[in-house]
Amino acid sequence: MDLYALTIHELQGLLARKEVTPLDLTEAVFDRIESVEDRVNAFITLNKEQALLQAAEAGRQLEMGEGGPLCGIPLSIKDVLCTKGLRTTAGSKILEPFVPPYNATVVEKLEQAGAVIVGKTSMDEFAMGSANENCVYGVPKNPWKPDFICGGSSGGSAASVAADECIASLGSDTGGSIRQPASHCGIVGLKPTYGRVSRFGLLAYASSLDQVGPLTKDVTDCALMLNVISGYDRRDSTSVNCEVPDYCASLIDGLEGMIIGIPQEYFGEGLDPEVEAAVKNAVEKLGDAGAIIREVSLPHTEYGVAAYYIIAPAEASSNLARYDGVKYGMRVMEADSLLDMYKRTRSQGFGDEVKRRIIMGTYALSSGYYDAYYKKASQVRTLIIEDYKKAFVDCDVLVSPVTPSPAWKIGEKSHDPLSMYLSDVLTIPANLAGIPGLSVPCGFSSAGLPIGMQIQGAHFAEKKLLKVGYNLEKRLDIVGKKPSL
Ligand code: GLN
Repeated sequence: MDLYALTIHELQGLLARKEVTPLDLTEAVFDRIESVEDRVNAFITLNKEQALLQAAEAGRQLEMGEGGPLCGIPLSIKDVLCTKGLRTTAGSKILEPFVPPYNATVVEKLEQAGAVIVGKTSMDEFAMGSANENCVYGVPKNPWKPDFICGGSSGGSAASVAADECIASLGSDTGGSIRQPASHCGIVGLKPTYGRVSRFGLLAYASSLDQVGPLTKDVTDCALMLNVISGYDRRDSTSVNCEVPDYCASLIDGLEGMIIGIPQEYFGEGLDPEVEAAVKNAVEKLGDAGAIIREVSLPHTEYGVAAYYIIAPAEASSNLARYDGVKYGMRVMEADSLLDMYKRTRSQGFGDEVKRRIIMGTYALSSGYYDAYYKKASQVRTLIIEDYKKAFVDCDVLVSPVTPSPAWKIGEKSHDPLSMYLSDVLTIPANLAGIPGLSVPCGFSSAGLPIGMQIQGAHFAEKKLLKVGYNLEKRLDIVGKKPSL
């Protein structure tokens, strides 16, 4: 049995019955990494020494009949979450030497639950991208087809899960960065409701949109991970203090009474026919499970990308001001003055896409342009929120594709930022509204690339999303299919 290929819930049983030890499992995962990582390139930093110590400790806990829900489970973490004593780069040269003195709250929660941290995964620099190509540490390869992108910006996390280099992972999603790579790599990814999961220790990209969430091999694991990472955190002022339900309790067979909306705007021009066919087939399966299917309209969907690419860069231009060569990471020493040091450090430390966003954001916020851009974008955001509010009066969830097309070839869009931005059209609205979105595999293209279905719900409706995802997974013969590496 290949231990690394199993899910959290399968391993929990084996570990509890002592048929496997956390050390066996962790060693199996590192052997797997050794054999496939040169073809996948999912990791920026590996944490083997520390992981083996964590596994030994998890083993002791299990021996004594203790240990949390993730005891001994090897996980990877997107390199945008602070890990105490373990380098955290955000995929950027400017943070190449940065070793955080503290853990992000979510990392702390994983460790308290007994998880073993395998390493930090590749990402677009500061989470800006849709293909994981904006990375100074090398581009990760799609495990299903090595010359194709994994999707961004949590591409390394998705690839590490799909390639069985870990059991599950954590990513972050500002405009689709968990759902898109999950979809392109054939795994499950959830962006929770804004405020459900703490952002403390998440290196900020666009603070009003960023949210941390799990990438897993199936929906059950997604619920298990969400149980661990959710909850109020006084160190995050946008964290919401409301009860955390048991998400696993929502994994029930049958969708009787559930009303599922199909937003017609998500099936418009530019949608790849194979994606459309796979999603429509999946919708039928949800109908077979007892759900009532209904068409709905989200009329402002098409303005989401334009609004997002004002709001996100505006927030980024402010958030990234902190990387000045003084407080964190690298510093260019050859400088004539303090100002010159700032300039040289930022010029050499940031990549092209990050600079483009800082310039766009600064421009959009500058006096004289604020009303025309930022204010207008905020108004569009409100319209998108209203669209959803109306849709959720009649529907429990909305289902659609995650991305307009399957993964594309590495390099195909990297010189055309606009076409890259447009690939976010179906995922951005959920971030603008702060609602949850789940990506679940629903088919393959004729070229053998995975296709995902997106399930969106009202604020804090994660249980409904997981229930629909679970029912889809049960009715499609996809989970457990693995890329041949
Ligand atoms: N592709 C989007 C962007 O580049 C979203 C990225 C994300 O969700 N972090 O901003």
